[in-house]
Amino acid sequence: MKQSALYIHIPFCDHKCIYCDFYSIITSDNIRPFFTSLKKEIDFYSEKFKYDHHFTSIFFGGGTPSLMCPDDIKDIVSYLKEKFIIGENAEITLETNPGTVTEEKLNHFIEAGINRISIGIQSFDDNDLKFLTRIHDKQTAINTVLSAGKAGLNNINIDLIFNIPGQSKEKWLKNLSEAVQLPVTHISAYSLILERGTILK
Ligand code: SF4
Repeated sequence: MKQSALYIHIPFCDHKCIYCDFYSIITSDNIRPFFTSLKKEIDFYSEKFKYDHHFTSIFFGGGTPSLMCPDDIKDIVSYLKEKFIIGENAEITLETNPGTVTEEKLNHFIEAGINRISIGIQSFDDNDLKFLTRIHDKQTAINTVLSAGKAGLNNINIDLIFNIPGQSKEKWLKNLSEAVQLPVTHISAYSLILERGTILK
């Protein structure tokens, strides 16, 4: 039995950030047909991998999966458990953007089976966040981490971006210092890259 992980891409976003080259769309019209098609894709891959793969991790990435209704995520988690061999203690992560969840909504995601969140903070500097055209500010980012902790999530990743124009070494170190004061268990740091086809490029 091979150990493996499942990645589910939820492509919906509130708006398009200037540096983003992920597949994401700004619409709420296609959500229902998307979930129907997602189940068909799960059926397809289940036939290939249900016998010899043991999945220890499920990651809902995007896009902004936290914009979804927790019941839809619950439905997909249950469907995956029906169609694949998923470990009892599998890590189930939801990518989350600050400002898209309340403590109450996070509680519903936990009920849906989510036991880890990955929060796209990118920076604790409001000028950096404006430059990146993110929808949140520093305080919203901090509040989202604290709400996740209060909701009972104790496995919290945050994403940070470095190499932002005008970001000095001191500003980057300040970002890291803000991050380690929060109840996070993991920090993913990425360099800003000029990707073909983005607004920034
Ligand atoms: S929120 Fe994330 S996926 Fe959506 S547009 Fe911004 S960077 Fe891209």
